Amino acid sequence: MVACVLVELSNKALDKMFDYNVPKELEEKVKIGIRVKVPFGMQKLEGFILSFKDKSDIELRDIESIVDNDIVLTDDLLKLGKIMKEKTYSSLISCYQTMLPKALKASYKTNINIKYDNFYKLNNVNINLTQKMKEVVKLFNDKELIDKKTISNYYSNVKKLVDIGLLKEVKKEHYRLTYDKVTAEKHKLTDEQEKVYNEFISTEDNVYLLHGVTGSGKTEVYMEIIDYFLKQGKTSIMLVPEISLTPQMVERFTKRFGSVVAALHSALSEGEKYDEWRRIARGEAKIVIGARSALFCPLKNIGVIIIDEEHSDSYIQDDKNPHYSAIDMAIERSKIVKAKVLLGSATPSLESYARGLKKVYHLLTLKNRVNGKTLPVVKIIDMNYGIRTAVGSFSRELINALNEKLEKNEQVILLLNRRGYSRVVTCKNCGFTYKCPNCDIALTYHKSTNNLRCHYCGFATKVDNTCPKCHENDLSSIGVGTEKVEEEMKKIFPNAKVLRMDYDTTTKKGSHKKMLDDFKEHKYDILLGTQIVAKGLDFENVTLVGIINADTSLNIPNYRSSEETFSLISQTAGRCGRADKEGVVYIQTFNKDHYAITYSKKHDYVGFYHEEMNIRRKLKYPPYYYILYIKISGKDNSLVYNESLRIKKSFMKYLKDEILLGPSTAGNYKINNIYHYGIIIKYKSDINIKEALDLMNKAYISNNKIKIDIIFNPRHF
Ligand code: ADP
Ligand code: ZN
Repeated sequence: MVACVLVELSNKALDKMFDYNVPKELEEKVKIGIRVKVPFGMQKLEGFILSFKDKSDIELRDIESIVDNDIVLTDDLLKLGKIMKEKTYSSLISCYQTMLPKALKASYKTNINIKYDNFYKLNNVNINLTQKMKEVVKLFNDKELIDKKTISNYYSNVKKLVDIGLLKEVKKEHYRLTYDKVTAEKHKLTDEQEKVYNEFISTEDNVYLLHGVTGSGKTEVYMEIIDYFLKQGKTSIMLVPEISLTPQMVERFTKRFGSVVAALHSALSEGEKYDEWRRIARGEAKIVIGARSALFCPLKNIGVIIIDEEHSDSYIQDDKNPHYSAIDMAIERSKIVKAKVLLGSATPSLESYARGLKKVYHLLTLKNRVNGKTLPVVKIIDMNYGIRTAVGSFSRELINALNEKLEKNEQVILLLNRRGYSRVVTCKNCGFTYKCPNCDIALTYHKSTNNLRCHYCGFATKVDNTCPKCHENDLSSIGVGTEKVEEEMKKIFPNAKVLRMDYDTTTKKGSHKKMLDDFKEHKYDILLGTQIVAKGLDFENVTLVGIINADTSLNIPNYRSSEETFSLISQTAGRCGRADKEGVVYIQTFNKDHYAITYSKKHDYVGFYHEEMNIRRKLKYPPYYYILYIKISGKDNSLVYNESLRIKKSFMKYLKDEILLGPSTAGNYKINNIYHYGIIIKYKSDINIKEALDLMNKAYISNNKIKIDIIFNPRHF
């Protein structure tokens, strides 16, 4: 028996299969999609078995061993990998590697083990039993296996019972995570929810888009749909952004569905992830909730793939190869296994909503919040005036509103999209700014550690009072971060208990859950945070949400900045007034007339959509044009630039109506001592593009000085 193995080499040139002999003792165990260890030249490498042959004409080396017995790439994942390779111009092996959890990578495996619990079975023996031993035997009347603890309640020396042959030890796998029994009663769907649910299950389309305002009960509809499929014997995957994969969310599902739920998220240890993955592979879990990569879990018999908050950037892998969109891949997987896809959001991406209107996606709508609760009133504070009477970052209006809520003992969420103490430290005398030596990006001041840090590479340096360039004592900080606002609040609201939640305060395992639990229990009055607080949270007692500076995201030089600002404000506003008490939102801005702000004040997604679409059409941006971004990087700046020019030229030959921009240093020019240039091509049909890309791909196979990333429809560049 001969196995064709795709070997894990990063070199694109070797992205092909090699034949290996299957030794007799492994013949029973090998299957397609399984991972094996093979000799390759002088090395030992891992690879995936993709097919089998009867024999080979040449002498072959043996497969050395099998890596995991029950984790394989299922049939549909093997197919999906091939599609992914085509769509992203990456190697097949990198696509398969992306699909498996980190816990299974060679370097991790040494630390991860399977845990076992000890159970005992009854053995027939011919000896006189004491009264106490007889009691133990009785325990086995209605059970085959009994755990150690139960037995020791009757007979403390369990080992002795094994030694005399009365009991036999049996090891059973122990999963690190356990879920409580189903306890929550489900809600009866409202008429509006019922209509959406019925339309979804009674029609036969492939992709659905559920546009429902915040608090309209989308999650409740998802659960009902999942329940429907469960009763049909089918399974479900639900993707949520990492940031909203809160313990609250997971709890809501495990309470309703119990132990058939598996959750995959970054707060799990690698061992816990490994266990969850095996439960899925064995068919013990039937509902999988997780972040982007959970899409690739080895779940069988899938009925529906749900993608909540579908507009979120977290579904796009744009920092490493393969550059893919989980939405595109979910649609591809659903076609292979004949499942449905349900995208949901209060603020769908423009691309998705446009497809909804064109009936490429089946559009479903929830216009109202559950039980007729109103969306919160949004008040815009014009900081051009407000700044004169403001205290620190807080306008008078916001201070008054906050005080009023605190007096009533209600809770507040404040959003500031910037961590650290202040943005940049500059010299007023000579204009010097501290920048990261590796990244060409301004450093951020952190007061708690009294240093400057690079948020890209982690570089840190001490700061002192004199400017390193002109030696004047004129350094000052511009912009505010969460740390500074927290300090301001101690002065303005001395009696309020403030909880700061951002990347810096949530690095410890479990800290995220603890903070949210504490806030829910009202141990704090105010939750101050970065966009971590904008999504998915559901607190009854929150009646005021403040956005300290709505301009932060508006000022990012990116074609999506308006869309992202609208979305951020709408999502944040959605966190308040979800229960009986009415909510109010304060937005501080220097751009009160910007349409992203005025439409979010009116909660008018459709109005915003049409206005933004006009701009996209005029500027030839998505969804009117597709974008291909080619990122060229390397250590040698001039070499990278020259290669970029060459690539540009080779592309020019193929282009007709397409638009080519660059090469430019837009975005992050220098990160970690690597220089980046970008070429942008806007196009409507991909025929010419594919041809040019194929040629380029061949030309760059063995170039180790220059790295080329091909990114279709990036969100940021
Ligand atoms: P969304 O996902 O659209 O933000 P959720 O599904 O989280 O909305 O629902 C918002 C709140 O309303 C939740 O607290 C949820 O438990 C409650 N809810 C949802 N549907 C119903 C219903 N049919 N009856 C009563 N309460 C509901
Ligand atoms: Zn850096």
